[in-house]
Amino acid sequence: MKINLSQFAGFCSGVERAYEIVSALDISKVKKPIYILGSLVHNPEVIRRVEKKGIKKIDYKKLLHSKVGEIGTLIITAHGVGPEVFEIAKKKKIEIIDTTCPKVAKVQRLAQVFSKRKYKIILIGDKGHKEVEGINSWGEKKAKIISSKKDLGKLKFSKNEKIAVISQTTQDIDFFEKAGKFIKKKNSKAEIFSTICYTTHDRQEEIKKMAEKNEAVIVIGSKESANSTRLFEIAKEKNPKTYSVENAGQLKKTWFWGTKKVFITAGASTPSWIIKEVAKKLAFSL
Ligand code: SF4
Repeated sequence: MKINLSQFAGFCSGVERAYEIVSALDISKVKKPIYILGSLVHNPEVIRRVEKKGIKKIDYKKLLHSKVGEIGTLIITAHGVGPEVFEIAKKKKIEIIDTTCPKVAKVQRLAQVFSKRKYKIILIGDKGHKEVEGINSWGEKKAKIISSKKDLGKLKFSKNEKIAVISQTTQDIDFFEKAGKFIKKKNSKAEIFSTICYTTHDRQEEIKKMAEKNEAVIVIGSKESANSTRLFEIAKEKNPKTYSVENAGQLKKTWFWGTKKVFITAGASTPSWIIKEVAKKLAFSL
């Protein structure tokens, strides 16, 4: 079986940066106990490595109700958070290690600036997603979040309203462009900012082509990872023999009967060692 490996598979620069910051952390010099708000990346293997360093996971509710001294240091993941987390940390004397991806930080700034200028912010993104919630918080939680065509159809605004359109970094580029055109048609002055990350864009463009050129597609990534899920959806539309796995152990022989060419890609939160394991298992025909 011929294996075609994505040229973009694996950690994106934002996740790589966050992982390097945490890996290089000298625990002896950091105020303890150390917590991380959510998962560094949606990958169980990476989560285990972080825990091994003595870093525990915490959620927003526990952070909010923690007493002064219960948390020494808080790590913010690449997805970023809203300003309220920094305010809580300040009040509770918690040190912050901020690994927010610079590209996510840029969208947060846009939300903040346009909210202050009294624009209506339309945020194309998945409702409830951590990055989207954080961006919305910087926009004073007033953004209209558009996750589907249905949401778009329900969107109400006048042609004279001041509108800024921004996007979750891992959004589907086609949907973002369609949404932008739809809004612009109704309000020609709407300001559209393409804030989709190129890493995501490149992976999406590649998989559209490769899903048609290969007999089967494997997308490696966690079910919780928005960009892995998006890759899976795009490929599945083009090629019904598209499968999603988190590791090599989840591959099934039956998926590849009679298959001569398979394409492997991975979400931005998938480490290179897992991609290698999957490729190796497939190369030896499982
Ligand atoms: S996908 Fe792009 S925006 Fe998101 S963390 Fe990675 S580099 Fe940053």
